[in-house]
Amino acid sequence: MSQANKYFAGLDIGGSTVKAALVDANGASTGALVEVKSRVKEGYKTTFEQLQEALRQLAEKANIEVSAIRGAGMDVPAPNCEGVVWTRANLGDDWVGTNVRDELSELLGIPVYMTNDGNAAALGEYAVRPDYSGGLLLVAPGTGLGGGLVLPGGKIYAGANGLALEVGHISVPHREENGELPECSCGLKGCAEAWVSLMALRRRVSIEVAKDEWKDHPLASDEISVIEKAFQLRDYAEKDDPLAVQIFQQQGQILGYALADLVRVFDPGKVVIGGGLADTSENFRNRYMGWIQEGFIERAWPVYRNSPIEPEKVTTSFEWAAGGDFSAALGMGFVAKDLFGK
Ligand SMILES: [Zn+2]
Repeated sequence: MSQANKYFAGLDIGGSTVKAALVDANGASTGALVEVKSRVKEGYKTTFEQLQEALRQLAEKANIEVSAIRGAGMDVPAPNCEGVVWTRANLGDDWVGTNVRDELSELLGIPVYMTNDGNAAALGEYAVRPDYSGGLLLVAPGTGLGGGLVLPGGKIYAGANGLALEVGHISVPHREENGELPECSCGLKGCAEAWVSLMALRRRVSIEVAKDEWKDHPLASDEISVIEKAFQLRDYAEKDDPLAVQIFQQQGQILGYALADLVRVFDPGKVVIGGGLADTSENFRNRYMGWIQEGFIERAWPVYRNSPIEPEKVTTSFEWAAGGDFSAALGMGFVAKDLFGK
């Protein structure tokens, strides 16, 4: 088979869906993108069937044979090292401890690369910025607060055990109004994720609506669950509701604190904000970015904003994620092409 007929698949395995993308031998997207259910809770073999279905659909869309797909990159939403998932997260039990990378490779008859979802998202954002060759730190507020770091030149920094860039669990200098450090989903207290995540919004909205100040606010109603309140907050913020704006402003500032420390350690040059906030209105995104900057400026030394030698030179630029829903899948496809396309 000639080089031109080789293709590479990116498989982004999430808690509910698999997003898949197909990259050609030149490292360009073929435009074939598909989405199937991931069924991760039913065990990895069920998900493997879904991955095979995704590959069939990709091949059909690109009008190629499945056998022309010569390598795959996949990401899973759990810490993993050398093909082995270390903790269950949202996956079924049998994912843990099995070398799922090697099992998938054997099943498909092609080499497979595996990493976690934060790394895949960072690689995807790198891939959609082909003219940029510096470092890229991605942070993605969602249910939790994920992250990933691409080194200058395009390699991911996964750490010695694949456990690097758990950015949600660095500590931030911020306490609740009662002086306590809030509990995080990881069991520790005072993590960034305890402030910047959907989980954090649930706690924050509960605390705020209990105050006299907001007793007439629609979100103070006992008839709406806290889960629903946290979901609705974004819509309220888009409408400039003062309660919602206050909660997001605090969240953005605390994300800015965390980013100041991360930038001081890694000096990435570019920070990309992903997760669900990247899909909000431009107006809201601009405001949220302003809040991140408030926190960042408070804790980042001036050299992490502009060069002291060339004051116009920005040393850390901030952007919203640009790759859309399929950026992680594309990032995995590009990595597979780089690793297996020789
Ligand atoms: Zn934590």
